[in-house]
Amino acid sequence: MKKHLLFTPGPVNVAPNLRVAISKEDICHREVEFEHLLNSIEQKLLQVLKIENPGNYRAVVITGSGTAANESILSSVVGNKHILILSNGEFGGRLHQMSKIHNQNTHLLEFPWGENFDLDRIDAYLTQHSIDVVAMVHHETCAGLLNSLEDVGALTKKHGVTFVVDCVSSAGAEIIEMEKCNIAFMSSSSSKAIGSYAGLSFVVGKTTEFEKLKDIPAKTMYLNLYKFYEFISTCYQTPNTPAVHLFYALEQALTNIIDLGVDQHYSSMKDKANMLRQGLLNLGLEFLIKQQDMCSILTTVNVPLNVNVSVLRQQLREKSIIIYEGKGCFKGKVFQVGNIGEISILDIQYFLNCLKEILINFSATEAREQQARQMMQVDSTASNEPYIAEIAL
Ligand SMILES: *Cc1c(COP(=O)(O)O)cnc(C)c1O
Repeated sequence: MKKHLLFTPGPVNVAPNLRVAISKEDICHREVEFEHLLNSIEQKLLQVLKIENPGNYRAVVITGSGTAANESILSSVVGNKHILILSNGEFGGRLHQMSKIHNQNTHLLEFPWGENFDLDRIDAYLTQHSIDVVAMVHHETCAGLLNSLEDVGALTKKHGVTFVVDCVSSAGAEIIEMEKCNIAFMSSSSSKAIGSYAGLSFVVGKTTEFEKLKDIPAKTMYLNLYKFYEFISTCYQTPNTPAVHLFYALEQALTNIIDLGVDQHYSSMKDKANMLRQGLLNLGLEFLIKQQDMCSILTTVNVPLNVNVSVLRQQLREKSIIIYEGKGCFKGKVFQVGNIGEISILDIQYFLNCLKEILINFSATEAREQQARQMMQVDSTASNEPYIAEIAL
């Protein structure tokens, strides 16, 4: 059995042939071999992400985790104009923090964690303020909540605003209709639904939008999005030294999806999520949000009253299963179970069986403790104060 079954929203268990790909031969990234590799990755990314009219879009690859792709967008697109961040969770908060570093004119509209955006408030804000760019997270991973790209996209179209989206945890799991949703740039990473190692991220954008970046002065050297575009479009290279072996692995992960069938990849991910969710419901568990608002990579489960989530996580770890605990206002209240990477139907069954066993133990302990408390109560009413003092000792 694998050492750790990663039921997390990234990192993932990678396919065996990725381990082979990552140890391929050494090449020089300024030679034609790397140009072929990057060209192939770009074509495959556009195919796997099901980008309509791929001739109008480009995908650039950055050495750095998903945050690097987000930071390249936020530091390269705004210039000295005004950007509005929409946030309903941890990752929306991170976009805001990042934008404040690079953009003086950063606005924020905050909504409660785990709740859908209030579109009227966004519409009103865009009417009352002169905003040039809107940024949001597609799948807010902290709650497992999918925010509507179509609704916000329509508002950005109505107000003539550039729309950029953090799709780090949704790309490759949900189909993102860039054209229809008016998206100029979206970001994602190698180590979530695409199923490769952590360390690479990418930005997909409309060619005409990349062209517009040319005249905006750079705010960072490494993450200058226009430079990535210029390099890929002139010579299929990256501005600085890329992590070549991670590129090999990413290409293999994309090839695996194409070999399986791109549609089959998306439906298999949905099937696994549905199977996991049905199993959790069968154990009497409840979810933080409605199933229809979830992304097919992750399920966020309310922690039952009698369960200590740190203990639960530790007991699962003893069975080689890794899950996530809630963060921020969800700490102690939820746990999260992912179903991306090399997680099979059998692995999901194994997880559900282990979880069942652990939950039964929690209930048994709870019942014993309750019984003990009741006996104490009976005793303490039968006798009086001196006896209670004795227990307190
Ligand atoms: C994982 C994730 C990121 C990227 O985080 P890194 O720490 O850079 O990997 C960004 N946005 C969302 C929504 C994510 O889930």
